[in-house]
Amino acid sequence: MRKIYADNAATTALDPRVLEQMMPYLTTVYGNPSSLYRIGAQAKDAVETAREKIASLIGAKSASEIYFTSGGSESDNWAIKGVARAMKKRGKTHIITSKFEHHAVLHTVHALKKEGFTVTMLDVYENGLVRPEDVAEAIREDTAIVSVMYANNEIGTIQPIAEIGAICRQRGVIFHTDAVQAMGNTPIDVEQQQIDLLSMTAHKLHGPKGVGALYIRKGIRPSILIDGGAQERGMRAGTENVAGIVGFAAALELAIDGMQQRIDHVVPLRNRLIDGLLQIERSRLNGDRDARLPGNVNMCFEGIEGESLLLRLDMNGVSASSGSACTSGSLDPSHVLLAIGLPHEVAHGSMRLSFSDDISDEDIDYLLELVPNIVTYLRNMSPLWETIKKNERNG
Ligand SMILES: *Cc1c(COP(=O)(O)O)cnc(C)c1O
Repeated sequence: MRKIYADNAATTALDPRVLEQMMPYLTTVYGNPSSLYRIGAQAKDAVETAREKIASLIGAKSASEIYFTSGGSESDNWAIKGVARAMKKRGKTHIITSKFEHHAVLHTVHALKKEGFTVTMLDVYENGLVRPEDVAEAIREDTAIVSVMYANNEIGTIQPIAEIGAICRQRGVIFHTDAVQAMGNTPIDVEQQQIDLLSMTAHKLHGPKGVGALYIRKGIRPSILIDGGAQERGMRAGTENVAGIVGFAAALELAIDGMQQRIDHVVPLRNRLIDGLLQIERSRLNGDRDARLPGNVNMCFEGIEGESLLLRLDMNGVSASSGSACTSGSLDPSHVLLAIGLPHEVAHGSMRLSFSDDISDEDIDYLLELVPNIVTYLRNMSPLWETIKKNERNG
């Protein structure tokens, strides 16, 4: 049976070339970077080389603006809690974010509400895009931070980040973006796009799990999230994940080097799949068709349950998801699909496929045969589908 891993938005396979660069730091060079002897110093050198590499890959002015963390969730927590708490001392207690952020942002903002912050949740409209003019309108005298994700993890929409960055800079408000899904899929330049803080993680771009970074523009001082030792210039305690950091830098370099080639390969295949699946009656594509991550396909099929579809796909060798990995297993429909205005019963029948470079023409052929068959099979035993068809007949 054909095997297709189509859940790269949840996590990716470790690139063997990345593992090779990590290996010395998992074996012989195990020293603590804070130590003075040779294998400690070697580990420290590796961390600093990775820091420089990552800084230059995102267009940062200085390597000292990169702080290593345990991944995207920690970076989001630190960026928003850190800036909000620091700004509160200056009387700024208003936060702006969007309705379809990752839970690492939404739950963080929710926690800050309990600390007395007020929050404006921006609409993302039917196409799944934040409107820069809405950001401009929402900014107040007491706004501490604007946080808008670079690309959505469920529907893949890529936000107008440079426009939002320009507005925030002009109004003197700090701008954070969760770029976890965007990295390696679209060009990122923190200077050009006027981004003040940027969350990253390695495992969504064929790097290891449990390591990421937060870019913090020079001059911004978020409060500390992880107290302890003096690592990361006293801003984030904990012995460095040396092998992970080395792997992260290697993976990001490969992802950015191979970006155009990957886009050229994946986008036509993805479009062929979308066009084919849209032939299924009462199907829809979620999120803007063009401002979209290269590998993302997110569709709804009315009258079926997304979970049943996923189980059948799995039985046929296809790993997919119904939205975010974090909400799978819960019966609530995705907050992202509700935010773009889908009714509950439609949002339930969703499927997200997220591809990487290894997707082939034959894989698409296979999916174009398999998915319609499963949808038909499930609809044939769905009382909901029967009702939909009955209503259709009665006009
Ligand atoms: C996966 C993801 C995260 C969480 O990153 P971890 O490294 O798994 O903590 C945050 N934001 C977005 C958009 C993601 O897709």
